Amino acid sequence: MLPYGRQSISEEDIEAVTAVLRGDWLTTGPAVTAFENAISELSGGHRAVSCTSGTAALHIAYAALGVGPGDEVITTPMTFVATASCAAILGARVAFADIDYATGLIDPSAVSDVLTERSKVISAVDYAGQSADYPALQSLADQVGAKTLADAAHSVGGSAYGRPVGDLADVTTMSFFPTKNLTTGEGGAVVCRDADVGRRAHEFHFIGLVRDPSRFEITDEGPWHQEVHEYGVNYRLTDLGAALGLSQLRRLAEFKRRRAEITARYNAAFAGVDGLRTPVQRAGVDPMWHLYPLRVLGGRRREIFERMRAAGIGVQVNYIPVYWHPVFARQGYQRGLCPNAERFYAEELSLPLYPDLTDGDADRVIETLLQLVG
Ligand SMILES: *Cc1c(COP(=O)(O)O)cnc(C)c1O
Repeated sequence: MLPYGRQSISEEDIEAVTAVLRGDWLTTGPAVTAFENAISELSGGHRAVSCTSGTAALHIAYAALGVGPGDEVITTPMTFVATASCAAILGARVAFADIDYATGLIDPSAVSDVLTERSKVISAVDYAGQSADYPALQSLADQVGAKTLADAAHSVGGSAYGRPVGDLADVTTMSFFPTKNLTTGEGGAVVCRDADVGRRAHEFHFIGLVRDPSRFEITDEGPWHQEVHEYGVNYRLTDLGAALGLSQLRRLAEFKRRRAEITARYNAAFAGVDGLRTPVQRAGVDPMWHLYPLRVLGGRRREIFERMRAAGIGVQVNYIPVYWHPVFARQGYQRGLCPNAERFYAEELSLPLYPDLTDGDADRVIETLLQLVG
């Protein structure tokens, strides 16, 4: 089966990880520091906190922004469940704003419809790898004193309006799962434009430990002392993962180039084909194409999905609207809430897309699909 996404591992990556195994630090050592510095550099120079997954990154981000009971978090239903569930787990109410049917990205006018004085965070998702409309979302957030969050699990390595991903929202979260744009095995990061939010993110992912003596409330202990002011968890990335990530970052531009090349190949093959709709690119955005979200019209998505799989091609569907998950449905979120997202979901089919996919593989995907819809 041709996978829909997979990691690209080089000999240099393998050497970078084995070098850590031969060294003194398996976790929270020099590789983690170097990786966080590299992510910061990629993201406009803001503080980066590495962590164990993209889901952990979202949990950390919402905790660092102080999300809790009584708050509302506005997000898109066209995402992986964690974008919403990590806010709900902290006690916030999630308000879903519909997407732009063309791009799959959260629609600022739909955000405006659900914005209230209780809105604490507006969380966008850079669906398929292109950045959402952060300038519009930021001005909505500013109206009520809310913050913007970019779930950039798909868009690491991209940019918009000349600014890199990581510098587009107040807080940006990343995932380094093997199918994502670069990998650390499991892993993620949070990038914070505000230094205080960055410090809170670091402390939350590090058990809540305060180690800066100038902030101690207990002042009569010895040099061993560290203390906790707020609860935290242990979401620390290992040096093994960080060394892999650091090595992968050297090829990020190459990964981006190859993903764009395959995307262009698919676009050329499917443009104007009856029953198919190719992805729409937003003006001003330089995407890091993470998914190839083709649309299959005429109610044929499931049939095409099953026949592609039967032909050994690992297509995927991204995503079921988040509020359809029973955990949200049981709270009263009803089908029909976001019609564009539901229509998008009914038509969406993600084709295999990853740097090591060959032109021959892509052509097999194209030929199989054209035969099925022809
Ligand atoms: C993958 C993904 C996540 C979660 O990342 P993990 O590293 O798998 O925990 C969150 N949001 C989006 C949009 C994702 O694609």
